Amino acid sequence: MTLPAPGLPARVRIHEVGARDGLQNEKSVVPTEVKAEFVRRLARAGLSTIEATSFVHPEWVPQLADAEQLFPMLGDLGDNGAAGEVALPVLVPNERGLDRALALGARRIAVFGSVTETFAARNLNRTVDESLAMFAPVVARAKDAGVHVRGYLSMCFGDPWEGAVPVAQVVRVAKALMGLGCDELSLGDTIGVATPGHVTALLAALNEAGIPTGAVGVHFHDTYGQALSNTLAALQHGVTTVDASAGGLGGCPYAKSATGNLATEDLVWMLDGLGVDTGVDLGALTATSVWMAEQLGRPSPSRTVRALSHEE
Ligand code: MG
Repeated sequence: MTLPAPGLPARVRIHEVGARDGLQNEKSVVPTEVKAEFVRRLARAGLSTIEATSFVHPEWVPQLADAEQLFPMLGDLGDNGAAGEVALPVLVPNERGLDRALALGARRIAVFGSVTETFAARNLNRTVDESLAMFAPVVARAKDAGVHVRGYLSMCFGDPWEGAVPVAQVVRVAKALMGLGCDELSLGDTIGVATPGHVTALLAALNEAGIPTGAVGVHFHDTYGQALSNTLAALQHGVTTVDASAGGLGGCPYAKSATGNLATEDLVWMLDGLGVDTGVDLGALTATSVWMAEQLGRPSPSRTVRALSHEE
């Protein structure tokens, strides 16, 4: 049943991360042809922004070592985000990654920053400021090439080594990334510890710092079962871009939990019920995740996928 609630946007753009964030964190390495078919099925289910892969060094992330083979296989889907076409952003860690992505015609990239020093040291082998300095030429060259740039901020709410993360610390890095020229930000709750009041406080602090809500997407993890509550709080604040992973692919590498990324199906179930338009066909999406779960040899952790596919 569809019953709208007050104070919500009419439409939400889902930034689908299953093929990148999801598969990057799965144990199995999926064949390139299966990844291409996955992205095609996601597009057919109505997802308009599908993060396709990462041009990280192949030895760092073996699950995505086939970016050079995969990306050209998706060329006919369209990657410029124009009406009727699917936007296919790709992650680039540095200038070398940018070179590889631009050579294949990528029109949208993302850089992956950290808000905390510990995660920056562990994931990027740099301080936060050194990582921003590394991104500066990447973003500048991308913008010169007319390429849309998303800036991920990880550990925006809590960090497994540092604990709760102060809002001001997130605002500082967010302002720096916008200052480099990023078109949009994605606020990552990488270990899933956020609760709705924290979400609202962070969004308000970003606004106070001059970052408009329209430039901010949210990336919640369901480790503690809070991803949809946090999403609702973000929507009530005016956020219209929500990251999610088909079938809940990806788990959580920083918490010993099967539940990581918010499952796209769980998100669409809520938004359908609220009458918020996503353009996504939940039945087609669920069928895609059931198919992908068969490829991976493990059931989807998404409750909506399980409920709709009668696995329980
Ligand atoms: Mg994630």
